Amino acid sequence: MLIAFKDILWAEDAGAGKIEVAYAKPRGGHKFKASTALLKLRRSGDGNDVTAKTIMDHAYGSARPGKRILVLINPHGGQGKAEAIYRRHAAPIFAAARCTTDIVITKRRNHATEIARDVDVAKYDAVVCCSGDGLPHEVLNGFAKRPDCQKVLKTLPLCQLPCGSGNAMAVSLFGHPSPSLAALSIVKGCPMPLDLMYMTQGATTSLSFLSQSYGIVADCDLGTENLRWMGGIRFDLGVLVKTVSGTTYPCEIAVKYVHRDVSQAKAYYERHVDGHSEEDSSLVDPFTDSLALPPPRLGTVNDPLSDDWQKLHLESLSMFYVGNMPYMSATALMFPYALPNDGTLELLHWETSIGRVNSLNTLLDVEKGNHVNNPKISYSKIEAYRLTPKITKGYLSVDGESFPLEPYQVEIWPRAACTLSPFYTYANAAK
Ligand code: ADP
Ligand code: MG
Repeated sequence: MLIAFKDILWAEDAGAGKIEVAYAKPRGGHKFKASTALLKLRRSGDGNDVTAKTIMDHAYGSARPGKRILVLINPHGGQGKAEAIYRRHAAPIFAAARCTTDIVITKRRNHATEIARDVDVAKYDAVVCCSGDGLPHEVLNGFAKRPDCQKVLKTLPLCQLPCGSGNAMAVSLFGHPSPSLAALSIVKGCPMPLDLMYMTQGATTSLSFLSQSYGIVADCDLGTENLRWMGGIRFDLGVLVKTVSGTTYPCEIAVKYVHRDVSQAKAYYERHVDGHSEEDSSLVDPFTDSLALPPPRLGTVNDPLSDDWQKLHLESLSMFYVGNMPYMSATALMFPYALPNDGTLELLHWETSIGRVNSLNTLLDVEKGNHVNNPKISYSKIEAYRLTPKITKGYLSVDGESFPLEPYQVEIWPRAACTLSPFYTYANAAK
């Protein structure tokens, strides 16, 4: 029997020349099951015998064994099975890896925000949200309310164990929405800096880690709550209906571009994809003395627009999407050139002039990320933007959560947060 070091969760001396190894046994389909094996050691006689410690060193590398995890479970996420999924697929792997867990089941909307605001962060090595993308969004915004916000964001990894209808974070980081794969990846993951998106709207500020969308996608994300029982399929169905109906979502945008067209974005990605970034040791950005949430570097939505932002009037906009993770679902590689901490956001939009047939084909191309080659689609890497909707009824989705349909501005906040990654980059970039 062969057990890969990457699957080993724990090793300890069992006496009589044997070592007991706990490991995540691959079951096919990206699923793993906690198992154990008793290894009989061969004595080499040269003093280099394999010990439980050498196995543990190989199995973990620079990752921390026995992590202390705060587990937050959203009983409302997905089809309402988050707790059962956690107990069945994740808890046995955490236990086998000698991780300790404190488990909280959220009682209401924004409960995770309150928990993150008040939690004693010194007690944990990670916060794991058994949910869709909604709970990580709430946790980030709870951290944002703390006086030690910058330090907590940067040093306490925020992770997702996929249990929702939208599990973009887990798919982007681990490559698949399998809860047991996520548990194993969290156990074996190292802290990795993550760029955040800092948003202002009216007098409020919010942090976003995944996306903002307006137009087709937002409508389908948020206008299909009544179809929650369908699971992820509800998004695809919603998009199809809207595409066929040709709805427009007029708006004005102003953008601070870094790489304006897709060939530049791609070239940039290819230059940076192999250069795994170093871990960041400086805790505080130089421009603030306090650890609380700093003001946005580029001002708020209420400030005059800066001259170096390009203004666009999009009268027949169909879809507007900004993100910082590659996968928006397991079957949508929406932003193929996204990197976790490259200091840029991905912006994608198209207008109804793309045509309905083309638009439908484009949605099919999204699965492999080929949509970005469509000349009617604009794909860029940007630093900041402002969006002013020209309609009063409709949806604005931030990380899959509903926001008021009012003007807002977003800028990148480089390396502000951290998560756990087994690859030190996004899963698609690691291949
Ligand atoms: P999904 O991907 O299925 O939408 P999410 O984890 O993103 O799942 O969560 C959806 C929503 O559930 C979030 O807006 C969150 O605020 C809300 N929520 C969290 N806990 C509860 C609860 N106990 N009751 C109702 N809603 C909740
Ligand atoms: Mg990025």
